[in-house]
Amino acid sequence: MLSANSIHKSFGAVEVLKGVSLSASKGDVISMIGSSGSGKSTFLRCLNFLERPTSGTITLDAKPLICRKDRNGDLFVVDEAALCAYRARVAMVFQQFNLWAHMTARENVMLGPTRVKGLKRSEAGEQADFYLAKVGLSHRRDAYPAFLSGGEQQRVAIARALAMEPELILFDEPTSALDPELVGEVLRVMRSLAEEGRTMIVVTHEMNFAREVSNKVLFLSQGVVAEEGDPQDVLRAPQTDRLRAFLAAQA
Ligand code: ADP
Ligand code: MG
Repeated sequence: MLSANSIHKSFGAVEVLKGVSLSASKGDVISMIGSSGSGKSTFLRCLNFLERPTSGTITLDAKPLICRKDRNGDLFVVDEAALCAYRARVAMVFQQFNLWAHMTARENVMLGPTRVKGLKRSEAGEQADFYLAKVGLSHRRDAYPAFLSGGEQQRVAIARALAMEPELILFDEPTSALDPELVGEVLRVMRSLAEEGRTMIVVTHEMNFAREVSNKVLFLSQGVVAEEGDPQDVLRAPQTDRLRAFLAAQA
């Protein structure tokens, strides 16, 4: 479904990603783990072209996105419409929620479908209600983000991603900004999405989630995938010292 092949990314002289590859099939839940600074966010942002990779290819349903080099030597998608269509299929949920402060929960969820997909407000409203119910927030739909807890804000952000009816959702440490008591409600929603068979790539420090919910795990270290495979194997019997040290530090 989605494949990223040998993604490199440099910021100036610093090479942050040194050839990272990943392929996701329909229904895969892929966890990406690794120390802070290992390049997880940069990779996820490259997958959505929020960051321009320096080299590599990204292919969705066997169709590579056609890129050209900008003057910094980084790749950008030539066809703006193709990028828009791609982003509608590959949604992203951020650590810091990134909700619009001047819009209610419901309006936040309606925005993408009305702006990008051209849905009528009435249709987008119904759809927003459906997805807000799915994340357990029907009763909070008219609240502004400032009046929502972090866990509620993140669930609105997930509803907003779902409302685009994406084929794949990227999550960048969706629970890392939350107070510990709010982590569970977000993980429960993510677990239910996984059980529905949604395709997800999740950067996370939640090892239980990685072990129990995902069917594949990638360990990123210093810009390369140092280990990958079935979470049961990779997390129980790490092959490298780097992963052993990382797992010991998580416990
Ligand atoms: P992770 O998400 O695994 O913590 P990041 O992808 O955020 O790691 O960062 C990897 C490295 O890239 C870090 O050393 C970080 O400082 C650097 N980096 C990330 N974004 C930028 C940027 N826009 N400009 C320069 N360096 C960056
Ligand atoms: Mg990060």
